[in-house]
Amino acid sequence: MPRTAAEIVDDLRLFITPSYPDIDIRVQPWDQDQSRLAIYFIDEKFSLLYPYQRWHYLTHLIPSDYQEQHLSTSVWFELAPGETPEDLRYPDEQLVEDITPHVMRILSRTGFFKQLDDIMCPADDELRPSPCWGDFRNSIPLLHKCGITEDELFDVCHVLMLQGGYCDCEILYNIVEENRLKAAYWMARAEGLEPYNPHNGSD
Ligand SMILES: [Zn+2]
Repeated sequence: MPRTAAEIVDDLRLFITPSYPDIDIRVQPWDQDQSRLAIYFIDEKFSLLYPYQRWHYLTHLIPSDYQEQHLSTSVWFELAPGETPEDLRYPDEQLVEDITPHVMRILSRTGFFKQLDDIMCPADDELRPSPCWGDFRNSIPLLHKCGITEDELFDVCHVLMLQGGYCDCEILYNIVEENRLKAAYWMARAEGLEPYNPHNGSD
C-alpha cells in the first residue's frame, strides 16, 4: 500500500525531528508533475547551509529502504524560512569534479588546511579548539583569508563536500591526509579512549 502524503509527513517527522526538532515538513503533489510528490523541508538551521549540505544531512536521517520504497520519485526542497524552491542552487557535479584538482592545489598552497587544523586542533594546549557546528563557519573566514572570493565560495565548498567534507571537521577527517585533528582521533581510539568530538559543545 502506498503511503498517503499525511502518513509520509508522520514518518519523516519520526526520522528527522530528533536532529531537527523544529522542522516543518510538507508533502503534496508536485505542481510540475502531479504523479510525483514534492516534499518541503523547512528549518531555521538550514539558513547557514548550502542546499547540497541540507540534502546530505536529511538523506542520512531517512533510512535508505524507506527512501527506496516510498520516496524514490519524490522531489525534495530543503528550505530555510523565507526561501522558495527557486532560490535553491545545486552544484553541477561534473564541473565540480573537473575543478577539484585545481581548487585543492590552491587550498594546499595557501595553507588553508593547516590553518583550519590550527583552529580546530591547536598545537598549543593552552588554546581552546574551535567547535564544529556542522557547517563551514570556521572555514569560510579562512577561505577568504586565503584569497577565495565570495563568488568562488560556492564552487570551493562543493569541491570540499563532494570529497566528503560536509563540515569543518569532516574537511580534516575525510579530505586531508595529515593533520592533528585526525591524528588525535586515532590516537584516542588506539588507546581505547573516547575520541574528542568537535561537534560536542557546539550548540
Ligand atoms: Zn563537523
